[in-house]
Amino acid sequence: MTETTATRSSALGQPLVVLSGVNKHFGDLHVLKDINLTVREGEVVVVIGPSGSGKSTLCRTINRLETFESGSITIHGTELPKEGKALAKLRADVGMVFQSFNLFHHKTILDNVTMGPIKVRGLKPAAAKERAMELLKRVGVDHQAHKYPAQLSGGQQQRVAIARSLAMDPTVMLFDEPTSALDPEMINEVLDVMTTLAHSGMTMIVVTHEMGFARKAADRVVFMSDGAIVEENTPEEFFTNPQSTRAKDFLGKIL
Ligand code: ADP
Ligand code: MG
Repeated sequence: MTETTATRSSALGQPLVVLSGVNKHFGDLHVLKDINLTVREGEVVVVIGPSGSGKSTLCRTINRLETFESGSITIHGTELPKEGKALAKLRADVGMVFQSFNLFHHKTILDNVTMGPIKVRGLKPAAAKERAMELLKRVGVDHQAHKYPAQLSGGQQQRVAIARSLAMDPTVMLFDEPTSALDPEMINEVLDVMTTLAHSGMTMIVVTHEMGFARKAADRVVFMSDGAIVEENTPEEFFTNPQSTRAKDFLGKIL
């Protein structure tokens, strides 16, 4: 790794995802507390924090899988749409990769990747197929295109899930603990695909506790605890010199 954080940061563009004063409750639980976060074009932000701190809810809120009560979220300066075609377009623009892959099990790998572009983006089947094969090749599973998800390993399925999101030409990609359901020997093959994607200039918000990935690929680490952003810093600074007691405690447990 020769690229420094400084050169990566200088390549960052305009604010892409902007959360200002976002608050959300689940009943009495204040799950997102006054969240302010700006992610710039090309930036890779790693979100870490203890279980239950609100990381998944943050991702789901950005994708509008969850509503929120106050504050605003904009993508390229536009408020998140609430319904209809605009919401479907938002979901295509904001790709999301989950812990549990979420592939369609009764569809082939190829169909998993072509479905969205055909239905939502209006691509012709032949064009969607060509693009899908290109993406499957990029994540190293093109030879599995005609198989079904259950015939693939977890690592391969997660790489298909990444290809499926990329097929929609997203402006930003959200990853919610993409490797935490994988057997250890499959973690790196997924992280390698994500690292390549990060270096290709994709804007990414990644919830993960994989410190190696954060150090290699992240511009910034955001530490959440109890629904709030407690600390943010470059990976180098955050991991070697955490400021808050909560971050120190957390790193003490996972490192
Ligand atoms: P993390 O991803 O950091 O582990 P989550 O965002 O999943 O945290 O959850 C944050 C808190 O919100 C937890 O206390 C969790 O139990 C609660 N929570 C998450 N989803 C719901 C829901 N749909 N209804 C009620 N409480 C929820
Ligand atoms: Mg979570």
